[in-house]
Amino acid sequence: MHRICTAPVSHFIAKRLVSPFWLRKRWLNKTQWMSADELSDLQFTLLKRMIRYAERNVPYYRELMKNGGFSSEDMCSLADINVFPILTKKDVLKAGNDLLSQAFPKALLRRERTGGTTGTPLSVYRNYCSIGNEHAFVRRQWDWARVHVKDRCAYLRARIIAEPDAPKQKMCRYDPLLRELHLSTYHLKPDTVPEYIDIMKRYRIAALAGYPSAVSLLARVCLARRLSCPLKAVLTSSEALTAPAREEISNAFACPVYDFYGSVERVCYIFTCEHGRYHMQPEYGYTELIPVNGSEDDRCRVVSTGFWNKAMPLIRYDTGDLVIKGNGPCPCGRAFPVIRAVVGREGDIIKAPSGEEFGATLMITLLHVACRASNILETQFIQDAPGHLTVAYVPGENFSADAFRAARTKFAAHLPKDINVDFERVHAISRTLRGKMRPVISLLPTETMQNDVPDLTSRRSEALRSAVEVQGATSHATMGMSL
Ligand SMILES: [Zn+2]
Repeated sequence: MHRICTAPVSHFIAKRLVSPFWLRKRWLNKTQWMSADELSDLQFTLLKRMIRYAERNVPYYRELMKNGGFSSEDMCSLADINVFPILTKKDVLKAGNDLLSQAFPKALLRRERTGGTTGTPLSVYRNYCSIGNEHAFVRRQWDWARVHVKDRCAYLRARIIAEPDAPKQKMCRYDPLLRELHLSTYHLKPDTVPEYIDIMKRYRIAALAGYPSAVSLLARVCLARRLSCPLKAVLTSSEALTAPAREEISNAFACPVYDFYGSVERVCYIFTCEHGRYHMQPEYGYTELIPVNGSEDDRCRVVSTGFWNKAMPLIRYDTGDLVIKGNGPCPCGRAFPVIRAVVGREGDIIKAPSGEEFGATLMITLLHVACRASNILETQFIQDAPGHLTVAYVPGENFSADAFRAARTKFAAHLPKDINVDFERVHAISRTLRGKMRPVISLLPTETMQNDVPDLTSRRSEALRSAVEVQGATSHATMGMSL
């Protein structure tokens, strides 16, 4: 007997009952067929409503608008959002509680932590009403994938389901209210794949959602061992989904693969429709695509204002991610903007000798969210040998070595036993030639080196030199910890 979730009731209540989930879901079914002009009018109404709310309830924006001499009542068009400066992650960290709405007691807000795409941790607060709205959007995505609300779905994400040495029977948890089966990504390896497939069949799973790195491994082993597990759909997110991986997953589970982009900051949501095209969801937030200077392939920064989270409104928030604009219209008939590609999520994969694979999102979320490593500014995971991983990190102002020691012990314990982990404290993580930080770098010779990273070995040396500078010439650079 596999474990049943012990705390599903609060999730179910937050997502479905004390929230406008059903109301919003019905509304979204209608708005998806609006014309481009109708959607633009709707966005202006929602944007102005959020800015008016922030002006009245959020100290950061009240002060900003007062000092800037502008008011929500001055807004006449979507373009008027330009009076606000772009909000960076650093601005959010600096503003702290000033970005929280005074209309809610902080104790009643739900706090979520994220490592983002660069390993810079951030806490985002949400009011319960916004959670129902959020899940109505998530539900629409499943609707597009033709997965019914009563279908059971399996998840392969960063959540810790079982301790590293837990028996096999505890590798999954089932939430009967939301009909969700959560599988442990950290225990997924070629040898355990048959058992995962067996569990999915036993629970009559109709769809699977997870990181491309984890779902691809599952798919590859299924194809190699001829394990059959037909599904209605597979949904991937958070990491780059390559064309070969999409094909492999689709073949293994005999179904279409959908991919989506979202973030804990809840400002922008992009997902694929039945025709495989990425669509920005215009009722979710107002997104400005700002061209990157010197970009050869029309890359744009994603700068968004969310419409639904009143606990912590973020206006013109720079997500740090990049997309390439696409051309409409889409054969699906929706007037939603088309995105050709989400390019902010590339990164290498960490591969253990025993066969497990881990992408950037999984590594970052495991360290910063599941293991609660705090007061870290940035992190980079470097696989420099088949059985060795170096985690370079930049400590923040209130960094505590003791607290971090506990987090890194837990982190290493959830990785395969054939990977040793060393942590290196550095004062900066260097960028690629395009100014981007790659959260995961594999230096294994079998990896394809990307043009964007011309000399990975020198970057590794650079990280080591940085560590020496921080800790002094007499101290060893490595805050080592081996398994
Ligand atoms: Zn479409």
